[in-house]
Amino acid sequence: MPAIPPPRGTRDLLPDAAPAWEWVHEVHARVAGSFGYQLVDTPIFEHTELIERGVGVGTDVVDKEMFTFEDRGGRSLTLRPEGTAGVLRAVLGASLTQEIRPVRVRYAGPMFRGERPQALRYRQFAQVGVECIGERSPHLDAEVIEMGWRFLHELGITGVSLQANSLGDSEDRTRYRAALIAYYEPLEARLDDDCRRRLRVNPLRLLDCKRDAALAVDAPRITDFLSDESRIYFETVLDDLAAAGIPAERNPRLVRGLDYYAQTAFEFWHSSLQGAQNALGGGGRYDGLAEVLGFAPTPGIGYAFGVERLLVTAAEGGRVAPPQAACDAVAASIEPAQAQVAAAAARSLRTAGIRTVLDVSDRKLDRKLRAADRLGARVCVLIGSDEAAEGTATVRDMRTRQQQRVAVAQLAAAVADALDAEPERQEAPR
Ligand code: AMP
Repeated sequence: MPAIPPPRGTRDLLPDAAPAWEWVHEVHARVAGSFGYQLVDTPIFEHTELIERGVGVGTDVVDKEMFTFEDRGGRSLTLRPEGTAGVLRAVLGASLTQEIRPVRVRYAGPMFRGERPQALRYRQFAQVGVECIGERSPHLDAEVIEMGWRFLHELGITGVSLQANSLGDSEDRTRYRAALIAYYEPLEARLDDDCRRRLRVNPLRLLDCKRDAALAVDAPRITDFLSDESRIYFETVLDDLAAAGIPAERNPRLVRGLDYYAQTAFEFWHSSLQGAQNALGGGGRYDGLAEVLGFAPTPGIGYAFGVERLLVTAAEGGRVAPPQAACDAVAASIEPAQAQVAAAAARSLRTAGIRTVLDVSDRKLDRKLRAADRLGARVCVLIGSDEAAEGTATVRDMRTRQQQRVAVAQLAAAVADALDAEPERQEAPR
């Protein structure tokens, strides 16, 4: 029977890569935590309606890329393609903004989009993100962007280009949309089918049209349609960023096609990522989204980063947690009769915070020592019949091959000493 491969566009996280993966998540939790953002976790599937309303009909994600299925009761469910809609549903559903405003939350987890898989574009990928819900202030937009910037800095990722734009308020965009339609309509023959459709449902997305990129260069710019209020709002965000020492590049073509986006939109680009996949992350203000989901109007802003892309970029910058040994110590019985004594020794080491693997195999001693080496153990604790009879254990330093016999009561201290003597303790980079 042929082996079953992983589904297209998915990847397995294997132990060698796990420390780096955990490191990215820990750094995000620490940085977002330092701004007062607390963890939330929402289901990886939601009612299809929530995703359709939240991400928007007329987007590629909703029109072509959703993993949608029916539950046994015939309700349509969809694997979440992004985190914002679910997090907003959870926060507003629990009325959290009635207690405190804004609500500052962070999240992490897998997202699903049925895209054509290519390098750094997967059908299941992981994001870390934040949402700041319940208040509208340019200082909050700057806070969220600063947090993303700081996160990248803590990952040792340099050479990031922060792209920022203002999408104005809904009146600004109504005027802008009309100008875009007036510009593109006479050029319809030069658009591909997708873009011709966008001209009707989602004209802002035409700026992303790949078929004839030259068209977008001469297209009207949102910045020319901003009200004074929107303009001042955006300048305040950029001022705050400048005061924090964060350089932002104005990019009038950075748009998000949906009505509920407002004011600030931003992306973090990195040159080492290729072409359309050059964004490490992005976000924006979504003041109209709560209403679209059926809640009272509630402003919000957030960002999301792609973990796989962060890892590749951090590794290129030389800053990623190295693979780690599975354990510090192996406890092994020399004969099956001492299995429980060896298990007790392992237990006492774990209680002392020493990562310990118990070797319960009936292999010969030299095979057990080789297996311990392969696990990366730096100390082996051996229990034979003598040790079991006298309440001792043999502690073997795997590097020097020196052995000493110690009383069980002193075992954890002796192993800790042997580990401390080891020069090359592996730690995640700081
Ligand atoms: P978006 O929600 O499209 O703004 O995506 C935010 C971030 O998630 C992007 O900047 C990427 O880093 C990551 N991302 C989005 N789609 C994918 C994908 N199909 N595969 C891997 N990463 C992705």
